[in-house]
Amino acid sequence: MTHSRPLAGQSRRAHENSHIRKVESSDAEFPVQDYVRQLLVHVGEDPEREGLIKTPARVELAIERLTRGYRTTVDQVVNGAIFEETHESMILVRDIEVYSLCEHHILPFFGKAHVAYIPNGKIIGLSKIPRVVDVFAQRLQIQERLTDEVADALMRVLEPRGLGVVVEASHLCMMMRGVEKQHSKTVTSSLRGCFLAGETKDEFLRLVHGGSLLE
Ligand code: ZN
Repeated sequence: MTHSRPLAGQSRRAHENSHIRKVESSDAEFPVQDYVRQLLVHVGEDPEREGLIKTPARVELAIERLTRGYRTTVDQVVNGAIFEETHESMILVRDIEVYSLCEHHILPFFGKAHVAYIPNGKIIGLSKIPRVVDVFAQRLQIQERLTDEVADALMRVLEPRGLGVVVEASHLCMMMRGVEKQHSKTVTSSLRGCFLAGETKDEFLRLVHGGSLLE
């Protein structure tokens, strides 16, 4: 990519963050540790016992970390790493690790994302794609919306001929409560542009599934 150069004057809309409210967790406004202490009491625990005494502080830190996406934008993580390039074949990043929290139970769902696009004059630094996935995964989510948001964000910054996102994930809220069999996975996909058409769609899904077509 030595002949590539950054594009000037990219639009910096941030509509994918429009539902986000600003949260800076001063104890007075956002007393997470108090909530956790109350939760411990509620389930029958003694929040003062040795193993639990630091748990409220740890949970607060963990929650901050796992929801960093609310304080990050796609434009920040892409940081101008969009390059002019005439490459016209499919670019696929497979097996991106995904860790998110379901918004219904605040329990983890996790798995893999596969992202592919066919450029239309612009490409993105490959390491940026997993970071774009994280922007949306590190929020309270449902898998369907996560898949759509990654697709829409990359459509906006890349303006490609087409793009596909597949997410396969296991949901602890279903697995731990026995709602589903332990090894079932939920697969969601968002296809845009030329990925909606037969041949490109087939090629994408074949590549994602290691040679076998998605049924
Ligand atoms: Zn759930």
